[in-house]
Amino acid sequence: MNTPVYLDYAATTPVDPRVAEVMTRYLGLDGIFANPASRSHMAGWQAEQAVESARRQVADLIGADPREIVWTSGATEADNLALIGFMRANRARGRHLVTSTIEHKAVVDTARALEAEGFEVTWLQPQHDGRISPSKLAAAMRDDTALVSLMAVNNELGAINDLAALAAVVHARDAVFHVDAAQAIGRLTLDVVEQGIDLMSLSGHKVYGPKGVGALYVKRSPDIRIEALIHGGGHERGMRSGTLPTHQITGMGEAFALAADEGEADQARIAALASRFLAGLKGLEGIHRNTDTSVSVPNIVNLSFDGIDGESLLMALRGIAVSTGSACNSASVEPSYVLTGIGVPRARALTALRFSFGRFTSEAEIDAAVADLQHAVATLRR
Ligand SMILES: *Cc1c(COP(=O)(O)O)cnc(C)c1O
Repeated sequence: MNTPVYLDYAATTPVDPRVAEVMTRYLGLDGIFANPASRSHMAGWQAEQAVESARRQVADLIGADPREIVWTSGATEADNLALIGFMRANRARGRHLVTSTIEHKAVVDTARALEAEGFEVTWLQPQHDGRISPSKLAAAMRDDTALVSLMAVNNELGAINDLAALAAVVHARDAVFHVDAAQAIGRLTLDVVEQGIDLMSLSGHKVYGPKGVGALYVKRSPDIRIEALIHGGGHERGMRSGTLPTHQITGMGEAFALAADEGEADQARIAALASRFLAGLKGLEGIHRNTDTSVSVPNIVNLSFDGIDGESLLMALRGIAVSTGSACNSASVEPSYVLTGIGVPRARALTALRFSFGRFTSEAEIDAAVADLQHAVATLRR
């Protein structure tokens, strides 16, 4: 095998060639490179048009109004802006935030920073399937709960939260609902109005767009107040200053438009690939599925292998690029906090690998991955 089979789409995706082509139009001298905030010439105005058209592409996919989209550098910044920006701007509403123990680090670490700033946080425990129970959330709500932050799809397990049911609980107590949807775009249908979402974090690079760009959806009616974290220039209605990166933004817009057109077909194909992958591993003893496939997106499969630690297996797997736990934690040897958070025993969590499939995964790649995995597991167990 030459280049390894890439099965780490949940960490990041390659840029779709159609997205890359769009991006190149906004870079060089013969392209639309001007500052989208330049009002004094045609070139600036054209750049602004491109940014606004991308804003509509992103808004359209989630049932939002383009004026509700605030560009950021990624979902990490969007999570920071949602949690810190909202809690600071709404102190009068309450100082209590509810989130869960298995959120992405961009939410977990931000909530911890808020605790250090004097806000109170309730950390919900997920069910064993990785989902948050609406009744547990209801029990955690207080009169001073200002914000609830829960993810749409978990990045290690693929578990899908019932956003509409959770939103109903949040709104019954007059709180605001933030959703990290970085892993959900192009995987499920999201509609902020139907699902009752007030703030939502988005990323470009999890859905075949470029890295370094994302957005926060901020509901307009009733208006949600957010305090800026980055000051200067008053871009993005004062919520996020900084010259807009036209090439990144148009790339993300195109990626979201492609997700609207092809997301469903992608997922159907990927579901068949995931079944093929799991069927190929049927003969192997001592495999545990940490992903409950009945409540998860099909593109993420998390497996533990009895008696083999994840790092050794990773080393033995010459032909596949996958991740142990989550990519963001791969520098440490601690078991994934998401797996231990859903009750996977520590020893088993240390043997876990996350396989994630995407738009460019082929049947041949799945078959090669299965063969590599069978060989590596057999070798290590011998
Ligand atoms: C990748 C990811 C993020 C971070 O997004 P960036 O755009 O890389 O900052 C946040 N939340 C979830 C669930 C993710 O999967």
